[in-house]
Amino acid sequence: MTNHPFAPPAHEQHWVATATELAADFAKTAADRDRTGELPIENLRALHNADIDAALVPAAIGGEGLSYRSYGAIVRALSAACPSTACIWVMHIGAAVGLIEMSTPDNARFWADKLVGGARFANALSEPSSGNLFLQPLQHAEPADGGYRLSGAKRFASGCEVADHFLINALVDGRPAFFGLDTDPDTMTFVPIWDTMGLRASRSQLITFADTLLPEDRRCQPSTGPRPNHIGAGLAFLSLGIADAALAALTAHARDRTIPTTGEPLASMQWVRFAVGDIASRLEAAAMYAQHMTWLADQNSPEFLPATMHAKLQANTIAREAADLGVRVGGASGYTRGDIERIFRDAQAGWLMAYSGEICQDTIGASILAPTPQDGHHD
Ligand SMILES: Cc1cc2nc3c(=O)[nH]c(=O)nc-3n(C[C@H](O)[C@H](O)[C@H](O)COP(=O)(O)OP(=O)(O)OC[C@H]3O[C@@H](n4cnc5c(N)ncnc54)[C@H](O)[C@@H]3O)c2cc1C
Repeated sequence: MTNHPFAPPAHEQHWVATATELAADFAKTAADRDRTGELPIENLRALHNADIDAALVPAAIGGEGLSYRSYGAIVRALSAACPSTACIWVMHIGAAVGLIEMSTPDNARFWADKLVGGARFANALSEPSSGNLFLQPLQHAEPADGGYRLSGAKRFASGCEVADHFLINALVDGRPAFFGLDTDPDTMTFVPIWDTMGLRASRSQLITFADTLLPEDRRCQPSTGPRPNHIGAGLAFLSLGIADAALAALTAHARDRTIPTTGEPLASMQWVRFAVGDIASRLEAAAMYAQHMTWLADQNSPEFLPATMHAKLQANTIAREAADLGVRVGGASGYTRGDIERIFRDAQAGWLMAYSGEICQDTIGASILAPTPQDGHHD
């Protein structure tokens, strides 16, 4: 893949290598963190200390502007090792770079300095009533001195307990508006209800707001059109990493486990080889498509947006199917607590995260089935 146009550019490959090296360490504690639900703050600091966060600062304000192709490869490597770390990191980068790109030049510099300085970012976008409508909030912020005050709640905010700043949205004058918000312990409460099936160490808690000021001077600029973002691009790679982990865990088990009647390892059975061949082949296709999606993002192509939906759908699907095969190959041993069952639980999350698999399917299907002028329909 070294010279492939969809692969990380040669001059950035050292970033992917550094992240992959760090990920090998993160893998050692992933099972413990799943058990304890402890947030992997050391992992996140290690990524920052390796200057990987700083590499994401956009070139337009003097940063390295790491490509989406390299970013995707990094998320995949992190997720294969510790998907909770990868999930929080995607949200951290998504919020920080999102704020940089949606702000006035002065505010963009401010957020970039914060990111480089080690501040932590999170997204408070999803609402309890319907998390999938995360770009169309239903909660109103009311005009107040210095900005707008929000009372309400946001749900599933990964890494919120260690965040210094949030990308948050609310309705202002009836329209969705985005703000950069400093954590305000006087008006914000993190409600510890995150007791989930998988991605347990992402600690994506509920946040309540009681008259929290969304400052006018940190309000994001109106969007000038679609542009790539790191959450949309990252979620496919979160699932691809989990699929990699599933394939690795089931392969280890299949090689190790001997069938007493034949004396041969499980790996030699034809149904296992067929199933692994099928999953591996479709994982290659999903990964290649996701890399294509990041290439589109690097071209700032309008085709990026529909491509994120295709990429997420394929990656979410293959992660769940690889994890399901892991449980079948693992037998009852895989059904007991261990890597195979942990990966099976983690693999469910990607499909649920916005936009959910169903919304991706519906959007793609509708775009194909919508009547066109050629069918005799006119708007
Ligand atoms: C591990 C994890 C981390 C997360 N991190 C963050 C974060 O950091 N910040 C943040 O803001 N959010 C975060 N989220 C929230 C996430 O992005 C989604 O908002 C959330 O998972 C949606 O859950 P929900 O219960 O609100 O689902 P709902 O939106 O209520 O969906 C329930 C069901 O209805 C279907 N559905 C809903 N709307 C439609 C529609 N229009 N068409 C067809 N089907 C539909 C869905 O497909 C699903 O099957 C995270 C979620 C998870 C699981």
